[in-house]
Amino acid sequence: MIREKLIKKFPYFATQDLSHAFDPLTEVFTRDTIKDYIRYLMDNKKPFSLFIADIDNFKYVNDGYGHKAGDGVLYDIAQFLSDMVGDRGVVGRFGGDEFLIVTEGITEYNDVWKIGHDINMNIGNVRFANDALPSITISMGISRYPNDTTDYEDLWNYADKALYRGKMKGRNCFIIYLESKHKNLDLKATRDIAFSPMYLHARVFNTLTETSNLAMAIKNQLLFLVTYHMYDHLCIETPSGMKFQMVHALSKHKDFKSLDFDTFANVVDNSGLAYANKVSSYSSSMSESVINELNEQSVVSAAYCKICAFDKVYGYIRIDMTDTVRIWQNDELNLIVSTARAIGLMLYYNNKTIEELDYGTVETVGKE
Ligand code: GH3
Ligand code: MG
Repeated sequence: MIREKLIKKFPYFATQDLSHAFDPLTEVFTRDTIKDYIRYLMDNKKPFSLFIADIDNFKYVNDGYGHKAGDGVLYDIAQFLSDMVGDRGVVGRFGGDEFLIVTEGITEYNDVWKIGHDINMNIGNVRFANDALPSITISMGISRYPNDTTDYEDLWNYADKALYRGKMKGRNCFIIYLESKHKNLDLKATRDIAFSPMYLHARVFNTLTETSNLAMAIKNQLLFLVTYHMYDHLCIETPSGMKFQMVHALSKHKDFKSLDFDTFANVVDNSGLAYANKVSSYSSSMSESVINELNEQSVVSAAYCKICAFDKVYGYIRIDMTDTVRIWQNDELNLIVSTARAIGLMLYYNNKTIEELDYGTVETVGKE
């Protein structure tokens, strides 16, 4: 088997009897195999990175499609991870919907980043044996030996903390542990705050009222949305085209075109919101030409929210994910709606329109 050949590339496995090393369900290494391997690497002072990968919202798969389908997904994801990692490392199953990746010899930030990026960018393309299943995303936390620590327990804790941080950020992402960023981060406190609707709404209004320059305030809030949740593209669609346009440095697709303005009114619900994990299965009220247009722009997932106040409609916040499917989370949708509502009110009372405030340049945001 090709995979066995790849694994044998690593001296530790080349000489081992691997007959009991694999998890029967997913056919990747067991937790014990990986743990023993990590002990060996540390005992021999061989650098490596440890990824803990956890499927996002996996309970919905089990609840909605049954345990058997869930098992199928675990197998397919395990194979996908093995394919993505290739000869850069080995994959194991930690248990449940958690997987482990160990990349012996790869600890440079950019190299580790590339592996995480490859996984997040391609997971949306996994085709499951059960094709009724929705797309799956995963979140990953990564720690590095000896860069972060030489202590076995700490290494696990750091990767776990980074994973937890990724889940909090909205999932479908990877976080590489950095002492300066994460060591003193009190996730318990942050989680309580970050998940409280009160905090989310307060944050919107704080940002929007930080400066009396209305254009700057709107831009700052939109910038927060894009970078915090790593959206590929965000703009405000108005009758005269896209304004406040931001493209994430990570987005493969950079060139976005305005959509038919009337479409938005047709797809949003009473709260002014519309979102789709998969644009291809979007509401029938979205015309075929718009779906085609989105396909051409590589848009896989999208969310739209009306900016309005009283009888005035100023435009729609348009958020696009390209290449990878996004499973929209309640807390982020909440944030989008309150942002749109707040901007609507501010425009109304300042007697301004989006067109009057837009700077007119497309900004690249976020880190490559
Ligand atoms: P989160 O994004 O926060 O990770 O949400 P989640 O729903 O994925 O939550 P969590 O990771 O805590 O849940 C894992 C679920 O995986 C719980 C359990 O029902 C399911 N599970 C664990 N082992 C198996 C298994 O062997 N087969 C199947 N089908 N499901 C499993
Ligand atoms: Mg999970």
